Amino acid sequence: MVVPRVRSIRWHSFSLTDRGLSRRRNEDAVLELPEARLYAVADGMGGHRAGDVASRLAVDTLAACFERPPSPRIRAPALTGRLLEAFDRANGAILDHASANPSCNGMGTTLTAVAPLASDPQCVIAHVGDSRAYRLRAGDLQQLTRDHTWVQQQVDTGMLTPVEARHHRLSSVLHRVLGTTAVGPADTLVVDTEPGDLLLLCSDGLTNMLDDAALLRLLSAGQPLDVLGRRLVDAANEQGGLDNITVLLLRAEPA
Ligand code: CA
Repeated sequence: MVVPRVRSIRWHSFSLTDRGLSRRRNEDAVLELPEARLYAVADGMGGHRAGDVASRLAVDTLAACFERPPSPRIRAPALTGRLLEAFDRANGAILDHASANPSCNGMGTTLTAVAPLASDPQCVIAHVGDSRAYRLRAGDLQQLTRDHTWVQQQVDTGMLTPVEARHHRLSSVLHRVLGTTAVGPADTLVVDTEPGDLLLLCSDGLTNMLDDAALLRLLSAGQPLDVLGRRLVDAANEQGGLDNITVLLLRAEPA
């Protein structure tokens, strides 16, 4: 029997951001824009309250660039182009704001965005920094994005093992963020999706507290997205909650 390929998918989403237990402010930002089929997580950095300015500017600029939603017929290459342009504008907006406001000098942010296509069972992902996108499918959790960290570079060249990288004192040092002149284009990738897939976007406040095995265990529970999202945040706080925690969940269902 030939099973017809699902052409279109309905996405259900839930997002939650939490200050955690040790930071005084939440410098993460999250964007959930189902009408434009756009979702994103940003994790800001910079002193004097600038980190939250950077992450907010990033998601607001992304939202403004998708105020006119992409055509339902847009294909992956064109949607990738729109996301790259939006990331470029977000980078420019942060640089402009920092140059006009000296207290924001040096601020930056990660930005990980996912844009599901309406015409194909695919998503376009664009990414700068160490926030992450994961896909859970049939009990298998795959990290879709590659961290733009110094330790990931060391892992790539065989100088550190993934476990050593995770516990390294420089594990949070980023080599690419939005808000610098040398950011370069975002990483982009196109991933296929099936009904039942669960996508997770998150800031490092989640992944520094919970390793992939812990994430897999929690994500596999099959709970409603809001229950699952709260459970992830609670689990990160139970492990110390050392940083702001943001989760954005997307579940694919047949349309
Ligand atoms: Ca963080």
